[in-house]
Amino acid sequence: MSERAAPFFCPYCGDEDLRPSEAGHGAWECHGCRRAFQLKFLGLLSATNHGGASHEQHRD
Ligand SMILES: [Zn+2]
Repeated sequence: MSERAAPFFCPYCGDEDLRPSEAGHGAWECHGCRRAFQLKFLGLLSATNHGGASHEQHRD
């Protein structure tokens, strides 16, 4: 896996004291607010899709 996404700030409190979590891949812990969260890469935005396709793919 070459997937790397390192947040610079906690999305909840804005603290910079983030550390990788052992909870899983892409998981981080904020030691400012003591929240654990996980980043997930959803995909690339399509530059050629001009509103043709619907966004009604509810998976998971
Ligand atoms: Zn935080």
